[in-house]
Parts: sequence; structure tokens; C-alpha cells
Amino acid sequence: MKQKERLLRDIQGCSGMLQGSLVALYRRCGKKGCRCERGEKHGPAYYLSYKESGVTKMV
Ligand SMILES: [Zn+2]
Repeated sequence: MKQKERLLRDIQGCSGMLQGSLVALYRRCGKKGCRCERGEKHGPAYYLSYKESGVTKMV
């Protein structure tokens, strides 16, 4: 299926062009006595933030 192969390649090409940025987030879990209560937050948890049709999405 030549057409399917081309479509797959197009999709991959598009995702490679996505404008995204890696975001590191630190958070508190809320447990009593946890180190995050003293300011040592958990993390970093990495998210990829990108725009799709003008809407910012986080992965
Ligand atoms: Zn915690």
C-alpha cells in the first residue's frame, strides 16, 4: 500500500515540526510530614508542552 506509507511519512514529518517545549514541574503531594511540606517539592516531572490548533497541550 504505497498510499498508506506516504501518509505515515507525512504524519511523522508533521509531528517533527511541532513547536513544543519541555517543562519541569515540581509539586507537593499534601501528605503530612512529607519533605515537600518543608519546601522540598517532588519532581521534577517533565511535560511536553506544545500548541495544536492554537491550543496549548501538555503531555
Ligand atoms: Zn510529598
